[in-house]
Amino acid sequence: MNRTMNRLSWAAMAALAVTASLGAQGRGQAPAPAAPPPPDFSKVEIKTTKIGTNFYTLDGQGGTIGALVGPDGVFLVDSQFAPLTDKIVAAVKQISDGRIRFLVNTHVHGDHTGGNENLGKLGVVIFARPELRARLAKPSPAANGTTPPGAPPAALPMVTYNSPVTVHMNGEEIRLIPVPAAHTDGDTMVRFPGQDVLMMGDFFRTVGYPNIDRTNGGSLKGMVDGLQAAIDNTTPTTKVVPGHGPITDRAGIAAHRDMIIALRDKVAPLVQQGKTLEEVVASKPTLAFDAKVPMPGTTGDRFVSQLYAELKK
Ligand SMILES: [Zn+2]
Repeated sequence: MNRTMNRLSWAAMAALAVTASLGAQGRGQAPAPAAPPPPDFSKVEIKTTKIGTNFYTLDGQGGTIGALVGPDGVFLVDSQFAPLTDKIVAAVKQISDGRIRFLVNTHVHGDHTGGNENLGKLGVVIFARPELRARLAKPSPAANGTTPPGAPPAALPMVTYNSPVTVHMNGEEIRLIPVPAAHTDGDTMVRFPGQDVLMMGDFFRTVGYPNIDRTNGGSLKGMVDGLQAAIDNTTPTTKVVPGHGPITDRAGIAAHRDMIIALRDKVAPLVQQGKTLEEVVASKPTLAFDAKVPMPGTTGDRFVSQLYAELKK
């Protein structure tokens, strides 16, 4: 059920919740189940962490942002939520001359693209995969049948690409590497070889179980292949920055991939035996991993449901 939540920005969800409750009142019906309340962005602080000579992560609310800084200006990875843009820009000024020139989105979800419009209006050139651009412009209908509004033109990436792109800036390379159909169908991982950093977006996370957003084009095969591609793009010392959760390394990606494969191989025979989704979830295939996955919450059941759907097709 959290898939819907992940797909929408908090602002869009709040707007939908208001519309739903006004509509329900107007028709004299019980209000639709409300979306969870948005976080109080006024209380969010941006935490800046230096992880390379010219490279920082910025954590506030939503996906981890990466920033390469230097004489040519700033290159950002992901933009968190729109109400945080001022704080993010202020944090970037603390570590650079403040000239944000480029932004790449690792995937379409609102906690990674919500700041696009604000940054686009500041003149930042946004890069992303064409699938991401199309989904931002015209979101898929949510599980409850409502369709969130399309993002305004300033939020849409100006440059799209289907194969790897290298940006040359601040005396080093920034490699935008497409990851086909993994967490979504518009994923990109970003390699900074000069800083020995790999930013992965949400097809790899170090909190909770994996999330294959099938409604936005994600797939099990893409996840497994993408994690292998990530391993192939690292050295043993590479700092691996997930979309959410603490920084890890190549061994962390390999363990995550192995867990996905182990869970796939646990669920596959149950699907072959004709078990229902409820029976498979009830058999708790994740049990052996629950103690190792930080903050699993309900993400284990969600991932088992996604595996079931992927293996059934
Ligand atoms: Zn995501």
